[in-house]
Amino acid sequence: MDNFPGDRSCKCHGEMEPIAISVRKDGEWMLVHRCKKCGTIHTNRIAGDDDISQLMALAAKPLKNLPFPTVEA
Ligand SMILES: [Zn+2]
Repeated sequence: MDNFPGDRSCKCHGEMEPIAISVRKDGEWMLVHRCKKCGTIHTNRIAGDDDISQLMALAAKPLKNLPFPTVEA
C-alpha cells in the first residue's frame, strides 16, 4: 500500500498486507496488517495518506462474507 521504511515494515522485511480494521474504545480507527512472510500482526493508526475507499472496503468485508447463510424471512 505504501513504502514507509520502518513504520509498517516487519522485522523480517516481509511485505505487510492490510487484513482488517479495528476501532479503539476512544473511537480511533486502527489498521491491522499481517506480514506475508512470517505472519506477524501489526496494528497501526490510520494515516492521512491512507486510501479511505480501500479502508472502507476492508471494513465492509466481514459484512459481505458472513460466516453463516442469510435467509430471507
Ligand atoms: Zn515478518
